[in-house]
Formats: sequence, structure tokens, C-alpha cells
Amino acid sequence: MTAPERRYCFVATGYLVRDGRTLLLKHKKLGLWLPPGGHIEPGETTDAGVLREVLEETGLEAAFVTPPRAPVMRNDRVESLHEPQRVQIEEIPGHNHHIDFIYYLRAKAGAHVPDEVRETGRDAICLVEASSRNP
Ligand SMILES: [Zn+2]
Repeated sequence: MTAPERRYCFVATGYLVRDGRTLLLKHKKLGLWLPPGGHIEPGETTDAGVLREVLEETGLEAAFVTPPRAPVMRNDRVESLHEPQRVQIEEIPGHNHHIDFIYYLRAKAGAHVPDEVRETGRDAICLVEASSRNP
């Protein structure tokens, strides 16, 4: 008997970091504090997807902490994307496995990042010590 073939989704996660702290959202369904992120949409790059997810879920415009490295092959048909901090496969019960591109981001200048737990329309949002999972 062979194992069922895995199916994958591509997702991106953004850790919005500042002064050793990171922004987490409390997902009401799961009851967990998690960084913002979600599925990459058709026709979307991972770079665009992670910035869109962070904006949709937090209302904050974000930018990458580091610029993309120059492409290995230089011509006008090659461009670099930002390198994720990590790429991992996550088993999602009752769903496909996720290939998760995980980035460190910073809020763009002028964005108000809450220091206290703040309720948004869908979730609570908070900056926590990067080593903590519980605000
Ligand atoms: Zn999925």
C-alpha cells in the first residue's frame, strides 16, 4: 500500500519585527496567537503575497527587512525575490500541506504598530517579545 500523494498549497507568513518584538494576531477560530499570513493567490509572487496578507490582516503596510540579493544570472529577464528567513512544510489537518515562505518584515514609516493588545475587526493584535508565544 502506498501513502496517499501529498498535495501542497503555497503560503507566506510575515513576522513584523521591531525592537526584538514581533506582531501576532489572535485567531478567534483557532484560539492561537499567530503571525499574519495566508495563501499565495494565483499570479501573485511570494513577495507580493506576504505584504498583501499582512496588510489585510493587520491594516499595516510592511516592507522587507533586507533587500533582495542580486540575481545569479543578470539580464532583463531575471529578477530576484526577497529571500525568506525559512521555508517549511506544514501539515494542515483535513487540508493540503502548506509550503510556507516565512519572512521578517518591518512596518513602513508612519504605520501605527500597537504596543498593547488591540481588537481589530476580526482578530486581536499585539506586539510581543519575539521569544514569547503568549501576550
Ligand atoms: Zn492551503
